[in-house]
Amino acid sequence: MKINIIGAGVAGLSAGCYLQMNGFETTIFERHSTFGGLCTSWQRDGYTFESGFQWLLGSGKSNPFYLLWSELIDMESIRFVYHDIRMEVELKDNQDIFGDKTFHLYTSLDRLEKYLLSVAPEDETPIKGLIHSMRRMQTYEIPPMIREVPQLLPWYRKIRYIKYLPLLIFLNKAKRETNFTFAEKLQNPFLKEAFRLLFDGDEMPMLILTMPLAFSDLKGTGYPVGGSVRLVGNIERKFLELRGRIRYNTEVDQIRVDQDKATGVLLKSGEFIPSDITISAADWNYTVFTALGGNYIDKTILKLQSQEKLKVYYSVFMVSIGVAATFGGQPHFRRFPLATSLVSPDGTQYERMEVYINNYDPTLAPAGKTVISISYYTRNADYWINLRQSDPERYQAEKQEFARAIIDAADARLGGLKEKIEVTDVATPATFQRYTGNWKGSVQGWLPGKNIIAQSPVKTEMPGLKDFYFIGHWTIPGGGLPVAIKSARDVVKIICHRKKKPFQT
Ligand SMILES: Cc1cc2nc3c(=O)[nH]c(=O)nc-3n(C[C@H](O)[C@H](O)[C@H](O)COP(=O)(O)OP(=O)(O)OC[C@H]3O[C@@H](n4cnc5c(N)ncnc54)[C@H](O)[C@@H]3O)c2cc1C
Repeated sequence: MKINIIGAGVAGLSAGCYLQMNGFETTIFERHSTFGGLCTSWQRDGYTFESGFQWLLGSGKSNPFYLLWSELIDMESIRFVYHDIRMEVELKDNQDIFGDKTFHLYTSLDRLEKYLLSVAPEDETPIKGLIHSMRRMQTYEIPPMIREVPQLLPWYRKIRYIKYLPLLIFLNKAKRETNFTFAEKLQNPFLKEAFRLLFDGDEMPMLILTMPLAFSDLKGTGYPVGGSVRLVGNIERKFLELRGRIRYNTEVDQIRVDQDKATGVLLKSGEFIPSDITISAADWNYTVFTALGGNYIDKTILKLQSQEKLKVYYSVFMVSIGVAATFGGQPHFRRFPLATSLVSPDGTQYERMEVYINNYDPTLAPAGKTVISISYYTRNADYWINLRQSDPERYQAEKQEFARAIIDAADARLGGLKEKIEVTDVATPATFQRYTGNWKGSVQGWLPGKNIIAQSPVKTEMPGLKDFYFIGHWTIPGGGLPVAIKSARDVVKIICHRKKKPFQT
């Protein structure tokens, strides 16, 4: 049975591996010259610049996603880095009782609790509540849920899941807490400001912070030395070893449909490749409105276009520099207030800067040198995407000018940076959109709203359409690599179930 997959990102490659393991004949079509999609890196004069990937949920055995990654990758062969501090946030208005203006978000829960209590003993109740909720998260047994597809479970097995009711109740309660509502519970001005600034001034569900922290404490979220290419390259290799086929530099234009059944893909070149099943692991907007011509939509999907239902995860303006220095002793991720705010040509105003010093991965730079990346979420990705199309020269000029302003501000803060820069690389939302096709240059699909555990209305199956499935980071708000692999695995399980094949890994 032949299956066509659109896209060689993590979702497309993972689906390809699982399909090959189960006896299907899979071809992946990728419009770019290489694999990885958003999870990628590129070389410039001896430096490797990452698209932004920082940590993998499931890097360690303590996390249930480890089991999934292990099905595709020899996880023992990858060295993961576990930072002691997730981030350092330098505050503007307040300092702690020891005179330190920097908030340290430790990855060890014991250390974090001690630290929070030492800077704000008056907030013992909310602090202990926060740490307790993370410790509780660690106690729930999650693995079976990660490996199951609820819709495939017979009723008698669903009943067994009653034991997870406390987890659901816990998550349902926890999802209502945001960093702003939590900050309201605090009396200490330093902590209040720190929690309000955790998501760069935005209000976000606390679960986005607490879930990864709970797993970091157990060494379940780490950075793979070698970055994206090391990680995703392993999945691509596995797919090829399983005798899957990938056609790079091959853009799919449309998904052919005959009597409400997907029958294959029509390439931009005009070539038609028939298949029994088609899977799109590409952008949702392209899939729904271009590839399928907008023929399989409902009211909810239409609401997505206007972003009434969910907001798109922000895109990024990212400056990466190769610097002839090691920055030993500097935190790997620091956010600090700017002396003068930076205003992007797209209209977004920034009061702070975030600097990643990637000196913990020696593969990214020659000895004695370091890759530094500074990225800004933008509130107006369309500005860059439209400008690049309408006026490429002005686009280049504005992009370089804003990058210079960012480097100047970083230099003013880090000191002596500019004269040591050997290479500069600038990516805008237009870059992310151009290389991966993601709508509005989104870096993680949909932005998780207050209801963080919600499903995206873009389901894996389109209403009324047979032999077609949609996977990837647009299927669950918040996106990321776990959503990519889980959605891929689930769909292959569903396909196996329908074809009456036992699912094998
Ligand atoms: C700055 C940044 C930081 C991030 N940090 C993290 C992190 O620390 N941890 C984490 O888990 N996630 C992180 N993410 C998110 C993560 O990288 C993505 O959510 C994930 O890679 C999405 O995978 P995907 O396969 O669903 O989609 P994509 O990566 O978008 O893959 C889609 C693929 O489809 C191809 N394609 C599109 N249209 C067509 C077409 N018509 N024909 C053929 N091919 C097509 C694209 O070229 C692409 O290769 C980050 C992302 C960015 C950019």
